[in-house]
Amino acid sequence: MTYYLGIDIGGTAIKYGIGNPGEELRLASSIPTPQTGLKEFLHVTRKLIHELMDQNPDIAGIGIATPGTIDRKSGMLLGVNPNLRWWIRKSPLDIVPDEFRKIAVCDNDANLMTLAEAQSTLGVVLGITVGTGIGSGLVLNGRIYHGSQGFALEAGHMCVQRDGLKCSCGLSGCLEAYSSVSAIRKAARQIDPKYASCGLDELLQDARRTPGLQTIIKRGRDFLSMGLANLAMLLDPDVIVIGGGAMEAGLYDIDQIAMTIAANTAKVNHHTAIQKAKTGNLAGVIGAILLAAQE
Ligand SMILES: [Zn+2]
Repeated sequence: MTYYLGIDIGGTAIKYGIGNPGEELRLASSIPTPQTGLKEFLHVTRKLIHELMDQNPDIAGIGIATPGTIDRKSGMLLGVNPNLRWWIRKSPLDIVPDEFRKIAVCDNDANLMTLAEAQSTLGVVLGITVGTGIGSGLVLNGRIYHGSQGFALEAGHMCVQRDGLKCSCGLSGCLEAYSSVSAIRKAARQIDPKYASCGLDELLQDARRTPGLQTIIKRGRDFLSMGLANLAMLLDPDVIVIGGGAMEAGLYDIDQIAMTIAANTAKVNHHTAIQKAKTGNLAGVIGAILLAAQE
């Protein structure tokens, strides 16, 4: 039996797991993401992969999930990684020791979340992750759709408001500037400066008795739902899966999102199922294992 190693690079933790498509993970764990810069980051990740490969000689491939957009021509990470500022204009495969490089593949974490969620669904699956930013992916019959050069499905940077709020990408009025956790925090800071840094759980607790916070969250949910309604009409997906840490924390209600999508799409589009992601915080690891097995 062959197994695959999946690694999910995140701003605070590097999650990893060993598994096989269709089976429970044989191992799932994580280490904190080194915050001191590229050198330490590469040292820690290469050492981790080396140890795991030595201890598990039945591993046939390595998959890596990373935030950021990967240019399919150069293999380099582009865009902005606010939590890993030095992790741009690099190849994600740099974390793999040379001797294992030829069995390693990588992709964007939202693409791999969508792949993990699409495991049991043949057809068209659109995935959205709501966290610090907004990520998205599209899986067509079990394969990730990348567009012509790797820049497809930047749904977080669709313009939802002309001349709107400034986004971390440099554009204005992006979905991410209204519906991401950073956007909610930025707006909530006007009500109380503590919301710039307190936990999302605390913010959501306070929202129960603070109408101002409710308005900010409703605006975020409405923009997200409108963006998804437009994507539903454009792509006609079988399923829209919404995941990410903020959805797990309960920032947006899936039923309310589904209602707004239904109210803003044609009847023929109402077959699209709107559901919450099931793979939770292991989505990136599972997607990375599936990708490694595919390649
Ligand atoms: Zn943007």
